[in-house]
Amino acid sequence: MHMERIESGCGCDRLQNTASLMRVEDAVNRALALVAPLAETETLPLGKTRGRTSAAHVSAPCALPRFDNAAMDGFALRAADLEGRCCLPIAGTVAAGDVPGPLPDGAALRIFTGAMMPEGADSVVMIEDCIDKGHKVHVERKPGPGANLRLAGSDQALGAPLLPAGQRIAPHHIGLLAANGVDQITVTRRPRVAVFSTGDELRSGPLGPGQIADANRPMLLALAAEAGAEVDDLGILPDDLDATASALAQVAGRYDLIVTSGAVSMGGKDHIRAAFEAAGGQIEGWRVAIKPGKPAMFGKLGPSIVTGLPGNPFAVHVGFHLFVLPQIQRLSGQTPRPFAPVPAIAGFDWTRKAGRAEVFPVRRRGFDGHGTPILERLGRSVSATLLPLSGADGLAIVPATTSEITSGDRLLWRPFCYDGGAQ
Ligand code: AMP
Ligand code: MG
Repeated sequence: MHMERIESGCGCDRLQNTASLMRVEDAVNRALALVAPLAETETLPLGKTRGRTSAAHVSAPCALPRFDNAAMDGFALRAADLEGRCCLPIAGTVAAGDVPGPLPDGAALRIFTGAMMPEGADSVVMIEDCIDKGHKVHVERKPGPGANLRLAGSDQALGAPLLPAGQRIAPHHIGLLAANGVDQITVTRRPRVAVFSTGDELRSGPLGPGQIADANRPMLLALAAEAGAEVDDLGILPDDLDATASALAQVAGRYDLIVTSGAVSMGGKDHIRAAFEAAGGQIEGWRVAIKPGKPAMFGKLGPSIVTGLPGNPFAVHVGFHLFVLPQIQRLSGQTPRPFAPVPAIAGFDWTRKAGRAEVFPVRRRGFDGHGTPILERLGRSVSATLLPLSGADGLAIVPATTSEITSGDRLLWRPFCYDGGAQ
């Protein structure tokens, strides 16, 4: 083991200096400037498109409903036939899917929701407003003309916009497209994302002395897959410049985005930047005024984008949402969404050191009188543990300039998805 004397006044001031750090917004823009939307598309059956991104605008191929139909179970009739009387003979039954003949003069047809309106009928009396006597119907509340009808084209006109280009496809889009008889969609190719961990101390299996479990790789693979990427697990790189450089050089060009974690800071074992440059990479940004996750790095290696996140797992989680997720969104053809778009109210007091923006796990404690969520801050300001996330409802962010938060102050946050759906 090699022991070194710990010196006081060892350059901490330089490390604390925030002047050389990119502002978070600038870093996000720098990370995004490296990304162009993928041009390749594929056409898939509708049922295979959940979570994919539409490559072209889809407009309605038909008007909906396609035909006038009953909005209620009841009786189809001519409203004028009820003038001066309240009983009509029942001439038959029309169920959904039937093609009815014309309504006989002065009669009613028993009709069910969604059934095509018979020619000549102008309204439906709902079942609750009449008594079905088998061969005739006694109408207790007379309908106005047009009552309880769904008219052709009243939900949606021919050519209505169904799906914009660049939309991540959710189950409700699939329902709407299916309702329109659209059975295939052209989507952007999935971004190919590779994930490396770095560190001699990391293992995926049983641990020996001094070793720790690799948390970042499984988390990043899961996050990237959830974001719609096709992911590849490229394992753990040793803390060795040459091995790291050759691993990066080997995969450059095979992926749209390579995400690494660890070895991006200033320690003697932090080889990622040097290895990245040795492999022919171009660093476009390094060090962000964010806590946790200051040493994030952005660059390009051939056609591949490389984003180097720090090693501490919470910093990795934050860095993914700040930088990698928008990169995947843009690659997919989506408009990248802001990190923390939702207003909230602080339910805590906090004094902190200004200089870097800070992201922290939060739990929703309730709502104020306007329905705005009140957030409780979880955990201490540590980047090594993911434990506070296990009870969190999302992440909140405070700007670099804020040093004091008082209960009742406004905040911005990013709620987590509870249902595992699209991010
Ligand atoms: P580094 O930036 O490589 O010095 O890493 C900072 C801290 O994060 C160290 O304590 C590492 O052991 C830890 N770390 C790095 N990578 C991982 C990982 N994949 N999973 C869990 N902890 C990690
Ligand atoms: Mg390391």
